[in-house]
Amino acid sequence: MQHEVDVLVIGAGPSGSVAAAIIHKAGLSVQVVEKMRFPRFVIGESLLPRCMEALDEAGFLPALKAKGFQQKDGAKFVWDELVCDFNFSQQFTHGWQWTWQVPRADFDKVLADECESRGIDIAYETEVINVVINEDGHSVTTVKQKDGTTDTIKAKFIVDGSGYGRVLPTLFGMNNESRQHTRKAVFCHITDQHRENYVEPNRIIIGVHDPETWIWVIPFSNGNTSVGYVGKPEFFELFPGDAEEQFRALLAANAVLAHRFADTEFIWDQPRSLQAWSSTTDTFYGNGFVLTGNVTEFLDPVFSSGVTLAVTSAQKAANLVIKHFNGEQVDWQKDYMDIMLRGIDVFRTYVNAWYDGDLFDIFFSEQRDSAIMDKICSILAGYVWDERNPFVKNHEKNIRNLSRYLRSLKNV
Ligand SMILES: Cc1cc2nc3c(=O)[nH]c(=O)nc-3n(C[C@H](O)[C@H](O)[C@H](O)COP(=O)(O)OP(=O)(O)OC[C@H]3O[C@@H](n4cnc5c(N)ncnc54)[C@H](O)[C@@H]3O)c2cc1C
Repeated sequence: MQHEVDVLVIGAGPSGSVAAAIIHKAGLSVQVVEKMRFPRFVIGESLLPRCMEALDEAGFLPALKAKGFQQKDGAKFVWDELVCDFNFSQQFTHGWQWTWQVPRADFDKVLADECESRGIDIAYETEVINVVINEDGHSVTTVKQKDGTTDTIKAKFIVDGSGYGRVLPTLFGMNNESRQHTRKAVFCHITDQHRENYVEPNRIIIGVHDPETWIWVIPFSNGNTSVGYVGKPEFFELFPGDAEEQFRALLAANAVLAHRFADTEFIWDQPRSLQAWSSTTDTFYGNGFVLTGNVTEFLDPVFSSGVTLAVTSAQKAANLVIKHFNGEQVDWQKDYMDIMLRGIDVFRTYVNAWYDGDLFDIFFSEQRDSAIMDKICSILAGYVWDERNPFVKNHEKNIRNLSRYLRSLKNV
């Protein structure tokens, strides 16, 4: 581990690896510290095409392609017999038309290994426990190693990509309550013997279980599939028993999944659960540091925005860090936080419209207009900064008006 560097990156998740790779490419010295040993599990397996641009700039695409991850061409929303199928080749924005569905343990390891192969040091099983930033923005970070010993790293700048660890917002008292409702997810990787009977696996399924509960189905290229239920915590109390009994009961309770996964085997010993993941922070930057990825704000998994926002924020932040080291003036508010918030706010509108039912009126309407759906498809592909798209530029108004209009047609 280097004890004095230009840039310290906290966390070797997608945002940390992308930031480290881009900054290192510019000739700055970089040290990454990662609390866990890799490969490690993290949730967030369905990517969006927009993330390919950041992975490309970081130089990760050849290594990822070589890994043979499952290609993702779209997303299918299903509510009983109602289906709304988005294909990324039919979208308004001229961007990437595909991406991947990935077990994150493998995906994150490819990115981290790529960083190491270029000479970036990653100190695994090394946890940041304290950070002191001087007036000039230079910092001294205390880390704790697996054996309990501590060490320090001096850095001229810190990129905090610690995800759910939320290192700097926690140390500096910047965490904020999210306005999203508390939701819970119960999920497992399972075998998928009957996959060939379905029009897949090159897309994910988002199933509506009931208006407040949805399901993800994310097939991987290894033949296994990730299945998860997301709903209010009370919903899961309807399914008592241990974790395995509960998950089998959840699968059996849904018409779309019951048949396909009746004889499934669990890849993990136990299904896992997560709750209350939404969080935000007062600011995304400060003297001598920037926050990237989940540390900034995480809303909800329904539109798979997490990794795309993580790598896009890392890409933008890394380029501004390079500018800063080149002695150029950086306006972090205007050139970083405002831009990131614009994209996050577009997703926020769609997440809220999903949970209040407005998107059901649009997705499952018989009167869907293909030109409008192409514009919405671009948002689901992660192109939330393309202001030529009216469903980006006036996201809230256009979604609300469209759903009202389609609902009124239904009531005629
Ligand atoms: C139920 C659920 C489903 C989701 N599904 C999707 C999905 O389908 N698609 C999608 O794009 N996103 C999804 N997400 C979101 C996704 O999990 C995150 O957005 C994504 O992992 C963020 O990447 P990151 O690099 O910011 O952080 P992470 O991937 O969390 O990486 C952060 C790293 O920092 C390390 N770290 C933490 N604390 C410290 C410390 N003190 N010192 C050193 N290292 C530290 C951690 O060990 C970790 O490796 C989902 C989230 C939830 C809750």
